[in-house]
Amino acid sequence: MPPSRVLSQRSIERLARQLTKRRRVAAAMSQSMFFEALEAQITADRSDLLDSDAAMSAASKMSYSLAAGLHDSLLRIDQALRRIEDGRYGNCEECGEAIAFRRLWALPTATLCFNCVGLTRSHEPEGVGAPERAQL
Ligand SMILES: [Zn+2]
Repeated sequence: MPPSRVLSQRSIERLARQLTKRRRVAAAMSQSMFFEALEAQITADRSDLLDSDAAMSAASKMSYSLAAGLHDSLLRIDQALRRIEDGRYGNCEECGEAIAFRRLWALPTATLCFNCVGLTRSHEPEGVGAPERAQL
């Protein structure tokens, strides 16, 4: 079954450009963060101050978690670019419906439509259905 083309070629091209731009920024940021962490590590190694250790490990922990976040967004951007290549981009992974262009424009890596995001967050209050009863 061929994927339904919900976005115009022009829209997809605009989003692809945006994704590529975001990818460049994220890649540049993660690189500069890596060097910052490295530099901080070197500075800490040279320093004789004992309490710089704690400050250093806090700083590097922070930049590592930031770097991990960037790595994560790079992955999501790559996945989105791959979806563009094989024509699956722009369809909701949950219901298969078209994701609104304005949602993709704001968040080009989105994989769920407005509906499914809303449903997963608010439509299923936990514990209401008394699942224990289901066993009887
Ligand atoms: Zn959906």
